Order: sequence, then structure tokens, then C-alpha cells
Amino acid sequence: MAAIVTDPVRTHVLGVPVDVCADVLQAALDLGQRGGGQIVTLNAEMTMAARADPALGAAIAAAQLVIADGAGVVWALGRQGFRVRRSPGIELAWNLLEQAAARGWTVALVGASPPVMEELRQRLARVFPSLQLVFSAHGFQAADAWPELEQQLLAVQPDLVLVALGVPRQETWIHGLPRPRRGLWMGVGGSFDVWAGAKQRAPAWMGALQIEWLYRLLQEPSRWRRMRALPDFAWAVLRERR
Ligand code: UDP
Repeated sequence: MAAIVTDPVRTHVLGVPVDVCADVLQAALDLGQRGGGQIVTLNAEMTMAARADPALGAAIAAAQLVIADGAGVVWALGRQGFRVRRSPGIELAWNLLEQAAARGWTVALVGASPPVMEELRQRLARVFPSLQLVFSAHGFQAADAWPELEQQLLAVQPDLVLVALGVPRQETWIHGLPRPRRGLWMGVGGSFDVWAGAKQRAPAWMGALQIEWLYRLLQEPSRWRRMRALPDFAWAVLRERR
């Protein structure tokens, strides 16, 4: 029988933590109220990467909220009796920007290419005129620029920090920043590219058929190497139950 969950309940898929929650936005807002923390959006590819990469595994294990983003993780949770809806990270991140604009939160953005960051800043200013964007930096800085950038970012103490550096770097970068730090910190992958109009999200029908991954593969054929993790994930989940 499917479990009905009201608060986040921590479980594991292949040893990687996932929080099952009825309402991910509410869970993120509650986390913000409790002083903040790191939010990870977990899919099958990332679960396999975390098993192979201790730094990514440690970042996810230490995250305060890990949500199920991806049909594979939802399927694996279903096998444990949890009925969960897929929560695409790009949607949670956008909802958090809406909340930030409505609640007067300060926001920081880190990552993506310089033109994408520029376009995104302009678009966000148009869509959310009240958004308090207090810090932004693209993700292709020289290695020696990062320490100062990190200091500046921490000094402004944003309420919400969205980080688009790709997996695993965005997760390990957030995890490695000095503590204590307040606010919500979330890795958002290619979301800035989509919001800036540089990349398209898969059409809704592909999402409904759970084949969003195929769209991404067609858009970026170089992803095939990473996607080899998907059958390995399915096989490992099937074996785990046995
Ligand atoms: N990126 C970056 N700096 C880098 C490499 C990548 O800012 O050195 C950005 C890239 O421009 C893109 C995001 O990181 O906006 C990664 O997007 P992707 O769709 O690959 O995310 P993932 O699938 O890894 O979550």
C-alpha cells in the first residue's frame, strides 16, 4: 500500500538519501524558516554518480532537503511503497524565485555562461520587477577568481542562492562553502539556460511519457555517455529489492 506523507520522510535509493514530501515547495519554505540549508534535486544519473564519487555522495548526504527529480527515482521510491510525484528542480527553483519576489527575499545567482547570465538578469527584472537580486556571477570564472567571489557572496547573506554549475560541481561547491551560512542553496543544472531562452525544455507530452531524457539526449548528443548510468540504475534498484 502507498504511504501518505505529509512531512518530509527521509529514505534511501541505492544508499543515497531522498526526502519524500507531499509538497516540495512547502518543504523548502519550511527549511528556509529553520535557518536554511542545501537543497538537492536527485535523479537516476546523479544517484549513480553519487555512488561512484565520494565528494558528491557526501554533499548529498549532508544536504538538508533532497527531492525526487526524475522518473527513475520516483519509480525506485514507488517500489518502497512511497507514492511520489516527480518534482523537476527547474520548477521548484522558479517557484522559489516567485516566493522571493513576493516575500522580499534577497537572491543570488551563480553559474552559466556570461551571455546567459546577462540575459537571465534582464529577463528576471522584467518578470519579477520586485526581485532583489543582490549578487550574480557567471560560472566560467578563472580559478583564482573564485575565493573572492565566494567571500562576496557569503558577505551579502542572500535568502536564496541558485547555482548552475552542473552536477557534481554545483553540489560539491555549495557543500564546501564555509558554515554557518543562512538561506536556501540549490543546484539548478541547466535551468538558467532554459530561463534565458538558450535551451528548450522537453515538451510536456515527453515529460508525461517520462522520456524527457530522450529530448535532452537529442538536444545534446554528448550526454549519451552520462546516460549509460540509467540502465545501470534500473538494474541496481531491481537487484536491491531482491
Ligand atoms: N557551467 C558553468 N561553468 C562550467 C561548466 C558549466 O557555469 O564550468 C554551466 C553551464 O553553462 C550550464 C550548467 O552549468 O548552465 C550545467 O547545465 P547542465 O544541463 O549540463 O546541468 P546538469 O545536467 O549537469 O545538471
